Amino acid sequence: MKIINSIIHMQALAIAPEREGRRIAFVPTMGFLHEGHASLLREGRKRGDVLVLSIFVNPIQFGKNEDLDSYPRDMERDFQLAEACGVDIVFIPTATEMYPEGFQTGVSVREIALPLCGASRPGHFDGVATVVTKLFNIVRPDVALFGCKDFQQLAVIRRMTVDLNLPVEIVGMPIVREADGLAMSSRNAYLSPAERQSALSLSRAIKRARELFASGERSIDVLEKETRALIEQESTAVIDYVEFRDGATLQGLEVADSNTLLALAVKIGQTRLIDNTVLGEEL
Ligand code: AMP
Repeated sequence: MKIINSIIHMQALAIAPEREGRRIAFVPTMGFLHEGHASLLREGRKRGDVLVLSIFVNPIQFGKNEDLDSYPRDMERDFQLAEACGVDIVFIPTATEMYPEGFQTGVSVREIALPLCGASRPGHFDGVATVVTKLFNIVRPDVALFGCKDFQQLAVIRRMTVDLNLPVEIVGMPIVREADGLAMSSRNAYLSPAERQSALSLSRAIKRARELFASGERSIDVLEKETRALIEQESTAVIDYVEFRDGATLQGLEVADSNTLLALAVKIGQTRLIDNTVLGEEL
């Protein structure tokens, strides 16, 4: 497994004549890897001849009062997991090389980036779209894998890839959960044992909404009330949003159908967690 820090070195490998005919599969991450990342890497291993993992805590997708400085890191453990998943190249650029003095260009996706996390975290998806475009130009992947855990992020990246004719196939992978239902996230490391218990309210709420939908409930009003109530039972949980939206356009709805997305963002203590489900999708 090669570790590459320099952009020019990574780019040179991606466009080298030796690449001829070899497919590059790419998994961009912010590190502190877990089984969710591993599922992307394993799928990438199957889909590409060369598997590239990037680890980059992208400063421009963090707001002023967010957790950029405290974001968890453990490179040694990340390398072990990467190695076990068959990664060929780990690309770890520096923030100063990614955003040198004078940097002033951004990629901005409109409607689909506005609601949900786009509303709570202004500028976040511009930061994501910009860094993913840069990473695609550096790594030149044939296929890139992203998790449905970040449902809106995946939607933004799909939109951007189509709109800008980026020559890369985007693959979305299912949410990987802990045995008790909590969606895996690097940020789960912030949770105290008591908060870890409260955090289960997100997956419990999702389960409840899915049950209601399966038993025929279609009123968004009713679904939303029930879902919110479950989370509000937790004294340490503060809802950022609980929203039911069309899974393709992310527009608001009054009546649920099988492609309705339930998206949640909830603060448990200081930690903001997100989770989601598509009501009619089999798990
Ligand atoms: P991150 O390191 O949080 O930026 O995540 C890197 C990639 O892993 C993104 O495409 C995420 O959607 C994906 N990912 C994170 N957590 C999970 C999970 N629990 N299940 C599946 N994919 C995930």
